[in-house]
Amino acid sequence: MLTTDPVLTVEKGITMPTNTQDGLSSSRNTGHIGWFPVRLITWSCSALKYLACEAAEYFHCPEKNLEQRKIKTVFVGAGPIGLWAAIQHKLNNPDADIQMFDKHSNYTRKHTVRVDLDSFKGAKMNLGLKFLKMKFEHLHGRIGCNVLEEQLLGIAKDLGIKVNNNGAEVTEIGPDSITLKDKTVIHYDQLVGADGAHSKMRKALQSQSLEKGEAVDLKAFGREDKNEEFSMRREIQYRARVRYQVKGNTKRLKSTWLSWMKHYYPVSKLFGSPVDEHIGPLKDNGTRTITLDFFVNQDEYDALYKDGKGFNLSHPANLTDLPESLSKKIRTWQELKHRNGEVNVEGSVEATPYALMYFQSKKVTAVTSQDKPVYLVGDCATALPYFRSLNNGLKCANGLGASLARGDRKPHRSKALTDNYDRLVDLRARKEFVVARLKDRAVSLLNGTLRLVNRSPLQLSYFKVQPAN
Ligand SMILES: Cc1cc2nc3c(=O)[nH]c(=O)nc-3n(C[C@H](O)[C@H](O)[C@H](O)COP(=O)(O)OP(=O)(O)OC[C@H]3O[C@@H](n4cnc5c(N)ncnc54)[C@H](O)[C@@H]3O)c2cc1C
Repeated sequence: MLTTDPVLTVEKGITMPTNTQDGLSSSRNTGHIGWFPVRLITWSCSALKYLACEAAEYFHCPEKNLEQRKIKTVFVGAGPIGLWAAIQHKLNNPDADIQMFDKHSNYTRKHTVRVDLDSFKGAKMNLGLKFLKMKFEHLHGRIGCNVLEEQLLGIAKDLGIKVNNNGAEVTEIGPDSITLKDKTVIHYDQLVGADGAHSKMRKALQSQSLEKGEAVDLKAFGREDKNEEFSMRREIQYRARVRYQVKGNTKRLKSTWLSWMKHYYPVSKLFGSPVDEHIGPLKDNGTRTITLDFFVNQDEYDALYKDGKGFNLSHPANLTDLPESLSKKIRTWQELKHRNGEVNVEGSVEATPYALMYFQSKKVTAVTSQDKPVYLVGDCATALPYFRSLNNGLKCANGLGASLARGDRKPHRSKALTDNYDRLVDLRARKEFVVARLKDRAVSLLNGTLRLVNRSPLQLSYFKVQPAN
């Protein structure tokens, strides 16, 4: 489900710890959260300015003597958000010349995403998108990220968008061209970075080189994200993902109301968090992987991440590496499942800590020395926890599609167009950060209540922790 980069793995709002050269990075929090009334006033002013600029652009006529050459738009990355932005661009301007490049021929994210139907608001629709919306309605908004990408890829190709996802890794960005891994140079008039959470395009934009007319070598950047890249980054919760193997068949702990009451609820109290349990398919060797995902407190997270440990997916902790509180929880879970007939494989426990975070890129747009606008969209611009990242990305991509179509007709307006897209991304991010913080308070309240109830001497349903073997 998660990618297994040896150094760092960040997925939508999910960041796996990084081993830096000088040990583990210190705080990954950056940016200042101002006083709420001040934020509200600045947000409202910014929203008004955004609307005024949108209206001005809408009524602004293109100059008569414009060069009639077709404007070429190039995308770095063809994930769901990049594809959505390209489709919106094409629907806003059917003559648009769009070329997309992606290094992977098979999209790698396979997790289920929850797509809000609200994300379609403000989007231009064609038959393909209407069909996709109906599919979301039917699936209650839940769809595999790779399935979504596949559907959007089909719609994009039908619209005449050229997608090269045959190992077309972009390795260099210049002020009016990009270079692929095989040294092919492609010129652009508008450039969009949609290369995901670890975006190298984001890193390239921070360097200001494009404005100075210098090319940026993307290969020179590591996958580690630095605080300087973000105007705001906050780790808001810590979680652990625990995997272990079992022999044959097993049942989820909360498979019925009775098992929820008898087993799942007391275990949640003990964990101090609801536990997401996923049972993998039966493998050839007759085993299955059980994945548990739950909130941990900062001490438990630090014990796995800090002090030179830095466990991650490619370097997971085993039961003996875990702090006592965590290993007690897992032993209790396994003991309970054992009583329900589950046979686990000895010594197969692997645990990985990760942080839920939100961030916003310090720079979301640039205008190069050749007067070409560059935009960031999707996870590379803003990442959010609690199933909001994709939805926010789709909404920003609606705005970007309209901006790119305007750029086709009015290429001399690049500064005005990029400035207003900047405002849109900032407005959306600030709103979503508030929602994320509110959800976070609710999660903390729920987890706190579970822990509190667990300490209460009077309990209707509880489970006694087994002593360590
Ligand atoms: C477990 C999990 C659950 C999630 N659930 C939800 C949810 O329920 N709701 C929600 O809204 N969001 C959810 N998200 C977040 C969501 O998956 C992301 O927001 C979304 O995938 C981001 O899309 P993207 O197109 O911006 O980036 P990506 O999907 O990361 O795509 C980036 C693309 O760029 C390509 N690329 C990168 N570098 C280059 C290069 N140099 N040259 C060429 N191509 C390049 C990559 O190959 C990739 O195809 C979840 C994330 C995770 C990890």
